[in-house]
Amino acid sequence: MTEFGGFAPTLTDAEAGPTSGGSSTIQGVGGRVDTNLVIIGSGPAGLTAAIYAARANLEPVVLAGSAPGGQLMLTSDVENYPGFVEGIQGPDLMAAMRAQAERFGTRLVDTDIDRVDFSERPFRIWSRGTEYRAQSVIIATGASALWLGLDSETRLRGRGVSACATCDGFFFKDQVLAVIGGGDTAFEEATFLTRFATKVHLLHRRDTFRASKIMVDRATANDKIEIHPNTAVDEILGESKVEGLLLSDTKTGEKRQLDVGGAFIAIGYRPNTEAFRDWLDVDEKGYLVVHDETGSKIDGVFIAGDVHDHRYRQAVTAAADGCKAAIDAERWLEAQGITEAATATAW
Ligand SMILES: Cc1cc2nc3c(=O)[nH]c(=O)nc-3n(C[C@H](O)[C@H](O)[C@H](O)COP(=O)(O)OP(=O)(O)OC[C@H]3O[C@@H](n4cnc5c(N)ncnc54)[C@H](O)[C@@H]3O)c2cc1C
Repeated sequence: MTEFGGFAPTLTDAEAGPTSGGSSTIQGVGGRVDTNLVIIGSGPAGLTAAIYAARANLEPVVLAGSAPGGQLMLTSDVENYPGFVEGIQGPDLMAAMRAQAERFGTRLVDTDIDRVDFSERPFRIWSRGTEYRAQSVIIATGASALWLGLDSETRLRGRGVSACATCDGFFFKDQVLAVIGGGDTAFEEATFLTRFATKVHLLHRRDTFRASKIMVDRATANDKIEIHPNTAVDEILGESKVEGLLLSDTKTGEKRQLDVGGAFIAIGYRPNTEAFRDWLDVDEKGYLVVHDETGSKIDGVFIAGDVHDHRYRQAVTAAADGCKAAIDAERWLEAQGITEAATATAW
């Protein structure tokens, strides 16, 4: 089983700027990099966008973030990404996507962006002292699953601890599972997991739920789901895989152990949109709002993947979004006369 990591950076911050220039689209000037397209984020959305944009000769620069590879770096087996009959380890899939993007000339910098200025073109993006100026931008910064923050949870991620029932439920046939959370996602995941599990314990710190009544009613009516209000998870038990949970009653403090084979953390996601909120529309949960497939309210700024999509949240849908955003960016650059029509390749 591949461990988290093994994802070597291509270009460090120090190497990123100034660059030596020498290509038609990327020139380093002082602490500055000029390019036709900056892609922010290197999960499935960002790297797929890079593959498409690089093959269209846009020579994209990917600001890959401090978590290069994105969310799939946090998981082991991925069995639902098409093309891998036996499945593939998340980090291996992301390393392959990155190598594929690099093969066509993508330059990657493993750095988080600090801020952006989208008031005029070229758009300006700052990261650790380097300024990137781009004629177009694809934002693919994803969303981060929220975790309980326990050491045992981190240690057992991908070994029975998950944040995605759609992705990992299948691995837990005929097991007793726990879902932690009290919102719609937790109830939805608990209900979904009853397709595989013999029993699902839904654990929530409070005695009221944020979930809608219909979701609570559905779960309550499901014989396989047992709801435990006022219940906190203090520890996830097991050496190499999840074997149980150490729980405490949030009212009485009473401790108890619950034997489970898997723990699904469903306490929410945080969309990585802080840097863009002054410039682009966000919805009530903080996700970016897309206009016309991958567009934003600013011409030339495109959006792909989980940073806007809290409905599907899958690698394949994020990758598809990255493809669409790259094609839209390429066509937009061509329509502006920034790139020549000849630049466009047959996709
Ligand atoms: C535990 C787990 C298991 C999963 N298993 C599966 C599965 O089996 N199959 C499946 O299809 N899906 C699975 N998913 C869901 C899947 O991982 C996501 O849907 C997918 O990764 C979304 O891709 P993305 O490119 O939109 O964003 P992400 O993968 O979230 O990538 C976002 C990228 O943006 C970068 N970034 C963030 N902020 C900044 C910033 N300020 N500056 C620069 N970069 C930034 C990050 O470093 C990262 O590289 C799983 C998710 C989790 C959490």
